[in-house]
Amino acid sequence: MKNMESKTNKNIITIDGPAGSGKSTIAKLIAKDIGLNYIDTGAMYRAITLIALENNIDLEDEQSILKKMEDYTIRLDYNASDPDKYTNIYLNDRDVTMDIRSKEVGEAVSIVSKLSGVRKFLVSLQRKLSSEKACVLEGRDTGSVVCPDALCKIYLTANIDERVERRKKQLNDYKQNPDIRQIKEEIESRDKIDSTRKDSPLIVPENAHIVDTTGMSVEQVFNKIKDIYYKELEYNK
Ligand code: C5P
Repeated sequence: MKNMESKTNKNIITIDGPAGSGKSTIAKLIAKDIGLNYIDTGAMYRAITLIALENNIDLEDEQSILKKMEDYTIRLDYNASDPDKYTNIYLNDRDVTMDIRSKEVGEAVSIVSKLSGVRKFLVSLQRKLSSEKACVLEGRDTGSVVCPDALCKIYLTANIDERVERRKKQLNDYKQNPDIRQIKEEIESRDKIDSTRKDSPLIVPENAHIVDTTGMSVEQVFNKIKDIYYKELEYNK
């Protein structure tokens, strides 16, 4: 069916959802399959959190964080041909791919992500990157704030136990081995802060497809999202 009124941006898929819902795994697979760039917006919030921590700046001191950010450029380097590979992220020329996954950054990132100035800066960078090349954007506000006109908006979720298991696996890939209780606490704390903050809280974006992945394999989720994407493409022809 044709949608003559459609003003969607056909070059963009957004995938939002709470911590551990499987967003990164699926976003990378979809990006590779369809031939899109992949933008991990969470990695950017983590990079700014790393800047604050390493410079001993109070996590709520927005002005000092924004001032310090002027000394850095953030660059994402995603290897689309290998979805198993993580996105490399650089602060100036330094590769911080592993550093942004530390326990300290994980515990602090939701506090820094509440700061409106930080969000404004990153949303603008994310919009610029997504206008340069067709992409899958992954995060908390990509379908609601960064690209609300995206062709295909997905909200991924799963029950807490499954999200904890997935996060454990992801952290193991980053060569960390935290215990389950610690992961659960971190996920619950981040979800609470992310969904109750004033600026751009984690919500189901308007017109998003909610996909509850509890009990689903990666392949099943991948196929379901591909199906949704091609239907949207057809509908918005
Ligand atoms: O996706 P990831 O778990 O790496 O995200 C880390 C944190 O970054 C989230 O818990 C959230 O506080 C913040 N974030 C955000 N908006 C985004 C992406 C991530 O506030 N679009």
